[in-house]
Amino acid sequence: MNVLVINCGSSSLKYQVIDSDSEKVLAKGLCERIGLDGRLVYQPAGADKEITEVAMPTHKEAVKLVLDALVNPKSGCLKELSEIGAVGHRIVHGGEKFTKSTLITDEVIKTVEECNDLAPLHNPANIIGINACRDLMPGVPMVGVFDTAFHQTMPQKAYMYAVPYKYYEQYGVRKYGFHGTSHSFVSKRVAEVAGADLKNSKIIVCHLGNGASVSAVLNGESIDTSMGLSPLEGLVMGTRSGDIDPSAVEFIAKKEGLDFAGAMNVLNKKSGILGVSEISSDFRDLLAAEKEGNKKASLAIDMFAYRVAKYVGAYAAAMNGVDIIAFTAGVGENNGYLRGKVCAYLEFLGLSIDAKANEVAGEEQKISTADSKVAAYVIPTNEELAIARETVALVK
Ligand code: ADP
Repeated sequence: MNVLVINCGSSSLKYQVIDSDSEKVLAKGLCERIGLDGRLVYQPAGADKEITEVAMPTHKEAVKLVLDALVNPKSGCLKELSEIGAVGHRIVHGGEKFTKSTLITDEVIKTVEECNDLAPLHNPANIIGINACRDLMPGVPMVGVFDTAFHQTMPQKAYMYAVPYKYYEQYGVRKYGFHGTSHSFVSKRVAEVAGADLKNSKIIVCHLGNGASVSAVLNGESIDTSMGLSPLEGLVMGTRSGDIDPSAVEFIAKKEGLDFAGAMNVLNKKSGILGVSEISSDFRDLLAAEKEGNKKASLAIDMFAYRVAKYVGAYAAAMNGVDIIAFTAGVGENNGYLRGKVCAYLEFLGLSIDAKANEVAGEEQKISTADSKVAAYVIPTNEELAIARETVALVK
């Protein structure tokens, strides 16, 4: 079956068509600058990218342009749209309502809408994408795959914030965690690759991309994760501060004359490695600057690695041990130097890294030595494939 995987952001839409039998990507691309000038990128397997500047006032036009590109007689990967058997939608926030992926119905959309105030930037865009697809592909089954669902197994002691209990009861204030599709995919895959029994394992997944989070996966279930009510908590990220004393936020806001929205904007968009380095949110720029002797770039990199290592240490305590540490996403997959910096803090766990193996980029690879007490792996994540698999499982 061909599955169209859709990931809608506030002004963008990423897509892939995956043949679920061979698990090959038939075409992929994205729509950018939706609501502004509009840009469609379409890339069929084995061919060059086609880039078209084209107006797309809303996500509905964007979806229509994607569908047209997929069946374009010249370069389309499909003859007709009926070759799409199902659509899998990434949905950011499922609150406590969704503990796993689900077939999308009117009722489900209503329930997702109830989670909107937990993810005001993301969920409304996800719903617009879903509605656009339902309008343009009536009768095609659609599945929602939630970033939060995998972490719904966390015990209450892990997900509660120590604030008055009524805020949890009245408003659902708690840790939810994100990147769940990736943490689920990578924890399962690393157990497979390592020949471990997932149901009897202690795995820590470090998803280190522009957004970054660590999770503790005990016997196949997430028992803790570094992101919280929103993706702002936890690690130092590209532009997000991660953990910070809330009093510092009040202090900065007062000094700078910022309201809540202004302060949150600083923490979400102007902080992290960008804020500290004053150079870039992209690790490649920072690594280049560090090589040239830039001290702030070097500090930002050190802060990032230190924070990751602290979470790994905490999660080893949460699980009373750790068997496997997996690195994934942009930085985790591609950069041995940063992985090495994180792992250097973890020798106390009995982790020993094979420097040569750790040079790997973008491929599955064991990076710990044969006699290391804890195994470490690089496992490329594949959220689109995970969404396609979940989708097929529910529509078949
Ligand atoms: P997201 O999906 O959250 O946007 P990604 O998982 O694509 O993020 O990761 C993006 C980050 O990965 C960027 O900071 C980028 O610099 C970093 N990255 C990608 N390739 C490399 C590399 N070879 N070395 C270091 N960092 C890399």
